[in-house]
Amino acid sequence: MAIKILLVEDSETQLKFLKEGLVECGFEVETSSNGAEAYKKVYTCTPDVVVSDIAMPAIDGYQLCRMLKNVEETKKIPVILLTVLDKKIDGFWGKKAGAQLFLSKSIDIKELAANINATVRRYPVTEEYKKALLDKDEANNSAQFRLNSILNDLLMKSTFSNEFRNLSDFLNYERIMVEKLFLLLSSFVEYHVAGVFFASPDDFAENIFYIDTLGRNLSKNLLSDVTYDFFRKMEEHREIKNSKFEVVRMLLGKELDSEFSDLTSKIIIPLIFDKKLIGGICFYTKQDIDYSSFRYFDIMISELLAIFKMKYQYTEKEFMSVLDGLTGLYNRRQFEIGLEQEFNRTKRHPSDFSLAILDIDFFKKVNDTYGHQYGDYVLKTVATLMKQSFRKTDLLYRYGGEELVIIMPETNIEGASIPVNRLRRMIEEYNFDYNGIKSKVTVSIGLTMNYSDFVNSADILKSADEALYKAKTDGRNRVVLHEQ
Ligand code: GH3
Ligand code: MG
Ligand code: MG
Repeated sequence: MAIKILLVEDSETQLKFLKEGLVECGFEVETSSNGAEAYKKVYTCTPDVVVSDIAMPAIDGYQLCRMLKNVEETKKIPVILLTVLDKKIDGFWGKKAGAQLFLSKSIDIKELAANINATVRRYPVTEEYKKALLDKDEANNSAQFRLNSILNDLLMKSTFSNEFRNLSDFLNYERIMVEKLFLLLSSFVEYHVAGVFFASPDDFAENIFYIDTLGRNLSKNLLSDVTYDFFRKMEEHREIKNSKFEVVRMLLGKELDSEFSDLTSKIIIPLIFDKKLIGGICFYTKQDIDYSSFRYFDIMISELLAIFKMKYQYTEKEFMSVLDGLTGLYNRRQFEIGLEQEFNRTKRHPSDFSLAILDIDFFKKVNDTYGHQYGDYVLKTVATLMKQSFRKTDLLYRYGGEELVIIMPETNIEGASIPVNRLRRMIEEYNFDYNGIKSKVTVSIGLTMNYSDFVNSADILKSADEALYKAKTDGRNRVVLHEQ
């Protein structure tokens, strides 16, 4: 059977010339003088290949090609684009539009025929495929309809990409990033509960599973079911040691939403890159999942993957390094190592050491009032004051977001309380000033030491944490000692 070509060319003389030449070479040739007509014709004449001029009024060769490549039913038909101009940019667009071949019109007809033969051999269209195409409903085949839906799609895609890309400004402000991410997700996915989790390359780090309930109150049971489900799915890819969850959007103090006794449908997606679990997202809905709301799911997942990858690599970089980028203090990982070493050392050679955890009071408010750049400045300044308050042999770390810790070797709790209290006072008295914006900041500190009944380093950390908690609940801006 002869190869069937759909030849598209707006110039009558060229069309005639090309058609005659190709028929002479043994092809069966159908013709069309514009893109819109050609698009419709593909459905009825089911060609083996489309050979189209690029420059045509209204719908041009690129657009025709894009339309054909955009849907399952026509995408396998190879497209050869012809141009008079040998411009690089034409080749670029041709490829972007998905054309299989791009030829200059100046080549002779024999060469064109050889190229057509080679293309058809390489991209054969089966009889089955053609038959399915013939059976297609005509309704959606208007070129205008197809073009509009492609334009909408492209616009949607680029809008999506931009929105997601904006999130990358908040790579080191996880909580802010999460809030923005939920806002974005909830604007185009119908869910009742969603969850987001950024895996850390550091086994010591806390893995927080953030949950969005769109402002509704859910029961503790339901939340822990969701969390359990989610982490079980993540654990298929990696063991996750320190995990907890945090609800980002939930109205507290109000009654529980009684409607939410069951969340029947769920989608849990681990995000994997380079065989590593870099995070995950999940969506729960009460009724069956409405797949139309997941129309852009694939695009969303690929954009999320890019963001999560960046975030992961960012943390990985921090994790590999020793110092925290913002404060210049040792980072959390170094702290875990340092505390363990000090604990073991003092077990072998009995001596005292103290541990203090400092947390800035109402730091969230500082960020909310003056912006997080200002917050960063405050944190840096507190770290600087801290460096000034302690001995060279004391070890200073950034433990978490705005939590700083100090290990004081060879120091008991009474001795430690002197520089710790001095630091608290220094911060209270300090006039914070950044770009002319002045503010006052206080800190709460929990202080403990290696009491003999602590069996491991985690016990010490826990006691410091408890003392800090007491400092907060007792009214902040104070140092609380863990009493034995
Ligand atoms: P509290 O007195 O109870 O400690 O109140 P708080 O507002 O400080 O509460 P919390 O400790 O929960 O909030 C800490 C906030 O610190 C949340 C986060 O937005 C902010 N934060 C954490 N790390 C950074 C950082 O590196 N830079 C800035 N600017 N803010 C941070
Ligand atoms: Mg804190
Ligand atoms: Mg705080």
